[in-house]
Amino acid sequence: LAHCDTADFNSVDVKPQITENYDGKSKIQLGDSEFYLDPEVFPHLKNYQGQTIISASGDTLLGGDDKCGISELMTFAEYLMEHPEEKHGEIKLAFTPDEEIGTGAEHFDVEEFGADFAYTVDGEAPGKLDWGTFSAAQFGLDIQGVNVHPAVAKGQMINAIQVGIDFHNQLPEHDRPEHTDGREGFFHLMNFDGTVDSAHMDYIIRDFERDGLERRKNLVKDIVKKMNDEFGTERIKLKTWDQYYNMADELEKHMEIVDLARDAYKAEGLTVNEDPVRGGTDGSQLTYMGLPCPNLFAGEENMHGRYEYTVLESMWKAVDVLRKINQLNVERNKK
Ligand SMILES: [Zn+2]
Repeated sequence: LAHCDTADFNSVDVKPQITENYDGKSKIQLGDSEFYLDPEVFPHLKNYQGQTIISASGDTLLGGDDKCGISELMTFAEYLMEHPEEKHGEIKLAFTPDEEIGTGAEHFDVEEFGADFAYTVDGEAPGKLDWGTFSAAQFGLDIQGVNVHPAVAKGQMINAIQVGIDFHNQLPEHDRPEHTDGREGFFHLMNFDGTVDSAHMDYIIRDFERDGLERRKNLVKDIVKKMNDEFGTERIKLKTWDQYYNMADELEKHMEIVDLARDAYKAEGLTVNEDPVRGGTDGSQLTYMGLPCPNLFAGEENMHGRYEYTVLESMWKAVDVLRKINQLNVERNKK
């Protein structure tokens, strides 16, 4: 699987530029813009000495996320069709929309697709293998205030904005995206608009542990309940829903699928990097819909902005990995 939508940074009129035999140290100007791919800013560029860098021209993203994945899958398919001697089971390709807004998998017909397992090809540098992601929930707060003239507000006004601030200040101060990394989760206030009369807040919750996600949801419920109890009425209305779950919890029952990818990476001489993803993938949902689905690298770097680039050699490596996965799978099924 690969996804055919791109992120929402300007993606109109993309003009890819190719830098062959990159020297690993100089800056690459993006088109004739004022923007450069600078190895001092993006040290991973140094890994690609002697290779072919494909970037955009300064005012758009490249869209390699996830056109890299699409190209690699199509090249893999082309290879198999041109080499009928290379044995394979039934292989299906799917290209999904709306991955970047997290709804790509929602309408995916797992039953009709009819695969035992799948991989998304939508990742970073060669060697990256994703089979652990956040578990994710979202919540919204609707706050009803009492608006009276500030001159006579004493004991009467309830400022909805202030209620929102008071709510926010009861969440753990450290657990914000800007203070966390690695396996730490967070509460993230994404949107806050309001007047004295009413206010609305949108948050996302992330945690690698499923019970950690539940604990965070319960904390939110408890704070809202305590505040409403103090008001003596339901001034704050809370709506919570789950978005996706850490696929690791489910994939641990199907480790042969992760092992197949690991073995293919190693056979291709790659060092396997399994750092968990501080986000979700289409596979997070698909895995829970019954299609176990880790994520393979596609060779994308600096995704979602003007500094996005990919590397031709990484893309070929992704095709080699797909072929190797197929070969190992054929061997495995012979046994
Ligand atoms: Zn992507």
